[in-house]
Amino acid sequence: MKRKISIIGSTGSIGTQTLEVIEKLHDDFEIISLAGGKNVDLLNKQIAKFKPKSVCISEKSENLNPCGAKVLYGDEGLEEICSNKENDIIVVAVSGKIGLRPTLKAIENGIDIALANKETLVMAGDIVMKRAKNAGVKILPVDSEHSAIFQCIHGESEKVDRLIITASGGPFLHKSIEEIKNATVEQALAHPRWNMGRKITVDSATLMNKGLEIIEAHHLFDMDYDRINVVIHPQSYVHSAIEYKDGSILAQIGVPSMHLPIQYAICYPERPQGIKSRSFSFADAQKFEFLKPDFEKFPCPALAYEAGRTGGSATTCMNAANEEAVYAFLEGKITLYDIYTTVEKIYRQHNVVKNPNIDEIFEIDNEIRAKTRELFK
Ligand code: NDP
Ligand code: MG
Repeated sequence: MKRKISIIGSTGSIGTQTLEVIEKLHDDFEIISLAGGKNVDLLNKQIAKFKPKSVCISEKSENLNPCGAKVLYGDEGLEEICSNKENDIIVVAVSGKIGLRPTLKAIENGIDIALANKETLVMAGDIVMKRAKNAGVKILPVDSEHSAIFQCIHGESEKVDRLIITASGGPFLHKSIEEIKNATVEQALAHPRWNMGRKITVDSATLMNKGLEIIEAHHLFDMDYDRINVVIHPQSYVHSAIEYKDGSILAQIGVPSMHLPIQYAICYPERPQGIKSRSFSFADAQKFEFLKPDFEKFPCPALAYEAGRTGGSATTCMNAANEEAVYAFLEGKITLYDIYTTVEKIYRQHNVVKNPNIDEIFEIDNEIRAKTRELFK
């Protein structure tokens, strides 16, 4: 039987690559709904090709050609898609804070989730994971590091002692602090290994992406922060590793491509050939470097460790301030390094709420965003 699937954020980097995987595995999947933001032209092409039953865009547009599909709008539309129990799995591939509500809706309706949107877990990981567990819903990681860890753990989490998350180091790995401080938007968006959306690409340049991933790993694998390490691996062949209690280390290795982690998440526990990327050749990989991360030059991951260990609303605050600072950088209002100083400043002023409920999380998120934006006026 075909697996029924919907994608929210289908017009983005992860969304389009998910559709490439599904195209290859067309006998195994039926698309129920697609949701994009503003890119109506691309959504029209996807609708014509994949014939979903419903589609969602952020705002009404005369240019949308739904080809008979039901048309939905905005956040409510995303939530309606995620409430449709016809779905076996939903890919949450929107960027930023928009991912949280649809994810909660899917959980409420008992639908498994292939989660690309890491911000969801940084905002409200305790609540999301608890609700998913109670509902028997699987949260399958799409992020390549977490997919690597998930593949290595293979159901034996109680025997794992440590997670080793790899990081490419981003475009400024070997640059000086001065060069980082003067980096242009264009330089920050030129990631050496991955072609991704703008928000995550900037996060990769500041290494906040790794900070968010540490928190994401803590929630997905229920692992103490002391047992999550980061290592720089510029070639991005080793997607991450785990160490078992007996000292044995397992890593997941391959040519850098998001197709594999996406495919693994939506096909789990099967492993079809699908859109297999070219095989990795150990003999041809000329370099296989591992370096200690420099948290002085890139302070964001250290702040993320601190926020993670503090828990409660600390990571909600860090995430909101970071997202607003990233948009301000992209709009040319602040420098790349200001992203860190902004997040740190807002974070230090925040009175952490210990066990926030979901309404408090949304409230805190809004407050922090408003406060952060004030700084850029
Ligand atoms: P993109 O910016 O490429 O895509 C974001 C998607 O969300 C687009 O389809 C966009 O629509 C849609 N969107 C934006 N705003 C809204 C809105 N208000 N309502 C509905 N849809 C909206 O991001 P990525 O694909 O790069 O990243 C998505 C998530 O996956 C992020 O959380 C990121 O951290 C994570 N991730 C991404 C990786 C990658 O390789 N790209 C790797 C690991 C994780 P439109 O373009 O039509 O406006
Ligand atoms: Mg990643």
